[in-house]
Amino acid sequence: MVKICCIGAGYVGGPTMAVIALKCPDVEVAVVDISVPRINAWNSDQLPIYEPGLDDVVKQCRGKNLFFSTDVEKHVREADIVFVSVNTPTKTRGLGAGKAADLTYWESAARMIADVSVSDKIVVEKSTVPVKTAEAIEKILTHNSKGIKFQILSNPEFLAEGTAIKDLFNPDRVLIGGRETPEGFKAVQTLKDVYAHWVPEGQIITTNLWSAELSKLAANAFLAQRISSVNAMSALCEATGADVTQVSYAVGTDSRIGPKFLNSSVGFGGSCFQKDILNLVYICECNGLPEVAEYWKQVIKINDYQKSRFVNRVVSSMFNSVSNKKIAVLGFAFKKDTGDTRETPAIDVCKGLLEDKARLSIYDPQVTEDQIQRDLSMNKFDWDHPLHLQPMSPTTVKQVSVTWDAYEATKDAHGICIMTEWDEFKNLDFQKIFDNMQKPAFVFDGRNIMNLQKLREIGFIVYSIGKPLDD
Ligand code: NAD
Repeated sequence: MVKICCIGAGYVGGPTMAVIALKCPDVEVAVVDISVPRINAWNSDQLPIYEPGLDDVVKQCRGKNLFFSTDVEKHVREADIVFVSVNTPTKTRGLGAGKAADLTYWESAARMIADVSVSDKIVVEKSTVPVKTAEAIEKILTHNSKGIKFQILSNPEFLAEGTAIKDLFNPDRVLIGGRETPEGFKAVQTLKDVYAHWVPEGQIITTNLWSAELSKLAANAFLAQRISSVNAMSALCEATGADVTQVSYAVGTDSRIGPKFLNSSVGFGGSCFQKDILNLVYICECNGLPEVAEYWKQVIKINDYQKSRFVNRVVSSMFNSVSNKKIAVLGFAFKKDTGDTRETPAIDVCKGLLEDKARLSIYDPQVTEDQIQRDLSMNKFDWDHPLHLQPMSPTTVKQVSVTWDAYEATKDAHGICIMTEWDEFKNLDFQKIFDNMQKPAFVFDGRNIMNLQKLREIGFIVYSIGKPLDD
């Protein structure tokens, strides 16, 4: 029986390995992590992440051929294939701070693999890493190993949070990069055989190591670039009376462009897009390509501009001040169907409104009060570094309340900001909400999900990204 071990039981490691275990009953899969609470949660009925369909997959395999454990060394030692799916956040200190990927988690995982291994292994980069990382990993592994042979593969993950299980069941493609040597080809084939249990052969792409590593960064940069492109258009739409939804549709029906990822919004979030583009920018700079770096930087600049534009619109619409006004924030996760708030635009928007002394009442069906308070108390580059958290200032604590109900959040509010496209927000009783709000009552739709005409008929003053403005 092939034994797989995955280091890192996070948003990628957990679901990916659960699907491999489900689709490959002849493979034994152990997912290991240094975080005891995370592993305990994976072994309980309350999984550590919310992802539609995940519970069901885990229930079918856990205890049969899928195991979650904190005994990292034991499972690595026994494995034939070791996936490494640890976090690779942006560096916060030292050389490359604010741009380069922090590979310390990766490095310590690689050192541990070298130390504990007693047999040959395939080591798979599942985390998103800078191009050429495999070269560094090879050095660490070969330097520390005692004649044991390691083959490094790059197998970046393309799942999207919120649709992870669907994406893993039916991936557009699986990408495997390896060394172009007989041993490298053999390792690629071994990993291909795992995916071949459910992924059609034509959808498994093999490349050299560097192409696979760079393709992941490129894919995220291209996706984020589409969002920034349409968001840049949304500002022009508001200035000219064009409607961004109509423009997106007209543009996206061109088969060379296509309709996906053309929804305008308050901006992209999540743990990946920004960090991967920053990483790309850093790599370009290090390789003497400042013009290319500048090009990709603009994607992030437009994203930041979109968030501040939204805050400015809220404040200016509400008579140039939100001081002491109650604003209901509906949604805090960076997208629907996840509880993940990493780099969510809601953080910057809330901070912008707090700056102008608004009182915020926040509701998200999957995000806890602790998460919200933690996110709002962090400095820009402190995410993923809990040890450096600043406590929320007493003034901010008073300005923020978290509710478990959209009606409670909006009661007596002067305005509503929709920050996440949760389906339930579309089905709220907005007449009831309007009746319980201060007047004039405002809705600022940061996700373009609302029926604006209906809201206007009720009496709301409405702003939606890239749409013609109310008089
Ligand atoms: P995560 O923070 O949810 O999970 C990473 C886990 O690794 C944590 O639980 C952490 O405790 C564990 N870990 C760190 N060092 C360890 C060590 N030495 N030994 C054992 N465990 C260790 O991160 P994630 O969202 O799953 O992302 C993981 C990687 O996948 C990142 O590189 C990310 O860029 C990439 N990625 C993420 C997504 C996504 O949607 N989240 C999608 C594609 C790729």
